[in-house]
Amino acid sequence: MLGRTGMNRLIAAAVSACLLIGAALAANGRGRIYRRDRIVRTAFGKTHNGVPVELYTLTNRRGMIVKIMNYGATITEIHVPDRHGVMGDVVLGFSSLKPYLDESPYFGATIGRVANRIARGKFTLDGKQYTLAVNNGPNSLHGGKRGFDKVIWHAAPAMTPLGPSVRFSYLSKDGEEGYPGNLSVTVTFTLAEDNSIKIEYAATTDKDTPINLTNHSYFNLKGSGDVLGHELMIAADRYTPIDDTLIPTGQIKPVKGTPLDFTRLTTIGSRIKQLPGGYDYNYVLNSGGHKMALAARVVEPTTGRTLEVFTSQPGLQFYSGNFLDGSIIGKYGHIYKKHDAFCLETQHFPDSVNHPNFPTTILRPGEHFHSTTIDKFGAI
Ligand code: BGC
Repeated sequence: MLGRTGMNRLIAAAVSACLLIGAALAANGRGRIYRRDRIVRTAFGKTHNGVPVELYTLTNRRGMIVKIMNYGATITEIHVPDRHGVMGDVVLGFSSLKPYLDESPYFGATIGRVANRIARGKFTLDGKQYTLAVNNGPNSLHGGKRGFDKVIWHAAPAMTPLGPSVRFSYLSKDGEEGYPGNLSVTVTFTLAEDNSIKIEYAATTDKDTPINLTNHSYFNLKGSGDVLGHELMIAADRYTPIDDTLIPTGQIKPVKGTPLDFTRLTTIGSRIKQLPGGYDYNYVLNSGGHKMALAARVVEPTTGRTLEVFTSQPGLQFYSGNFLDGSIIGKYGHIYKKHDAFCLETQHFPDSVNHPNFPTTILRPGEHFHSTTIDKFGAI
């Protein structure tokens, strides 16, 4: 029997679950019930400062599930069917908040204000030099010590014509992590009926500032084990060569004749040993980032699961989980080892703010930053 407090707690939990149900709840002529698309909000623990974190579970009518929390606007789970319809979670992550706070290598997170590296954490803009926190060897990585992956976003769930959706918004204050200008940023995740996740970024600023936003999901279409047998195509004939701290030299070179060539579907593991550590390169997408275009396709032959990445961005960082070393235990008790995941981070090129020949990352007052990436899942 539940006591009075127990019952009150139960009622409070049910109220805060905030169930939004799509219009598809209806019986057809033969009395069959259609599946419902929906959003459910649940509590996902508290930050070290005691701030409650919420997890949003989005389900579409085909039963695909995506979970996203407001800490770091982070995707924690993506459940998609294989060729036999068997559902599997295809991203790395944790089942509770604490490891996200303490040891996550950006699993599923929204990255900003500037994703990827800025050489020595320094850049000059409008004649002024800015210094950022250095958190990756000599460089600044993924927005600094407390980037967008480590802040609480305001969440607004909504049922949209495309599918269940959550818009996360955040105000990054002038001077935060050393960046100039108050940057008002939103990232909206929508789970569409065709089993795709649409990620839309928007931002405005009151001072000139660099900006580069991405999502850092670590995919494994098999669900566990290494990803070396996955086949990958990247729609890029060129890449940005890097120095030994992973900063671009400024050149743009052809991938042809190198282990970086994924212009045709190629097994990730087939040439990985030729590269120290594995893949961690920015590809220059053939689309130029001027329109939505297919950036990458992945096929996992044993399950038949596929992923297609479409983006309006000019670059794509292909990272093959080189720094996973077996020290992190994630969801389902999985131990994450080297190459147990791949990331396809749609973005502007690394260190763009220090390379005038790269597409600009500078957002100016009065301008509206907008960028879209679609991760579309399937099975063959
Ligand atoms: C970078 C890697 C880094 C990883 C996790 C990727 O975007 O390219 O070098 O290890 O993020 O931090």
